Amino acid sequence: MKTASILVPLLMLLSLIGCNRVESPVRLQGKTMGTTWSLTLSNLPAEIQSKQLQQQIEELLENINALMSTWRADSEISRFNTSTSTEWFDVSPQTHSLLQAAVRIHQQSGEAFDPTVSPLVELWGFGHTLPRQGLPDDSQITSTLQHTGLEKLQLHESAIRMRKSIPQLQLDLSAIAKGYAVDEVARLVSTQGLQNYLVEIGGEIRISGKNPQGEAWRVAIEYPHIEKLRSAAVIISVTDAAVATSGDYRNFVEIDGKRYSHIIDPLTGRPVTHNPASVTVITTDCLSADAWATAFSVIGSRKGVELANSLQMAAMFIEGDDDKLTTISSDKMMKYITNTPSQTQISGSGRE
Ligand code: ADP
Ligand code: MG
Repeated sequence: MKTASILVPLLMLLSLIGCNRVESPVRLQGKTMGTTWSLTLSNLPAEIQSKQLQQQIEELLENINALMSTWRADSEISRFNTSTSTEWFDVSPQTHSLLQAAVRIHQQSGEAFDPTVSPLVELWGFGHTLPRQGLPDDSQITSTLQHTGLEKLQLHESAIRMRKSIPQLQLDLSAIAKGYAVDEVARLVSTQGLQNYLVEIGGEIRISGKNPQGEAWRVAIEYPHIEKLRSAAVIISVTDAAVATSGDYRNFVEIDGKRYSHIIDPLTGRPVTHNPASVTVITTDCLSADAWATAFSVIGSRKGVELANSLQMAAMFIEGDDDKLTTISSDKMMKYITNTPSQTQISGSGRE
């Protein structure tokens, strides 16, 4: 088996297109959560030191990782995961409120979003353990499903505590933590009085105000095929919103010559097999956009568009083979799209 997954799913290409009056943009960047982060400021007022801002962002991200990274044995979430106790576990307010949001999205998505899937993620060879040989069999999947399900996590109603109803329960915040971190960076930047910026971690984005040209920010959604990576399939235009994309075209495992997505259907215990090749969600906060992009990948385009419309959410599903690209968008998504996809199979455009 060959593992073709990468941990840096840069699903979007950011583009600052246009050439009107240009402020001097400032870009800060670094590494976090197995990927990269960046902050693009349309301008930096003289009273704000970029070095100091960089340091504050790095500290903030470090604190989030210390709580939520499953790649760190000593993080809060790893301590909860390795504990087999079903007693109450004192948790940070940050993790507690993130999990409250996760529970809400789990329920609204018909359990498609489920941050307890880690034993399944491991079983299929996407996790921390070595790549697997051959497919897991039905009995392994059935027995692993006994250890998953967000209903097995209880959040205390009045205290900041949580507990497992079975010792084996584990949390994997990979599908929501990047979005959460983007929101926290955006909050930090806003408290400094900055209004025009774009924050991005591993392709999950939060946008405020205008770009350096004084226009709406434009974000290119990548063509979701390995052969055409870094080509813009769809260009969206956004002022105050968060944008997240999930897709399996950069992150998959190959078992016996067949590709399996890193997104698991929590109800079947198997990687999602149907299209869409990518899902993009636009909401006000990046935590929700991130989690919903994963949820809609499980749900699929047909039911996904119906659900997005009923929840008044902006979601776009990109499907199709190498030659023909189809986008299926919810009603609310339409206002963000600036092009018809067939006109913009641009090759060679890259990250700014
Ligand atoms: P990416 O990390 O590529 O941005 P996602 O945000 O969709 O992609 O997160 C996918 C990760 O989330 C997987 O690698 C796995 O750890 C975890 N995961 C897989 N399936 C689900 C699911 N149904 N609900 C919640 N998390 C999931
Ligand atoms: Mg996600």
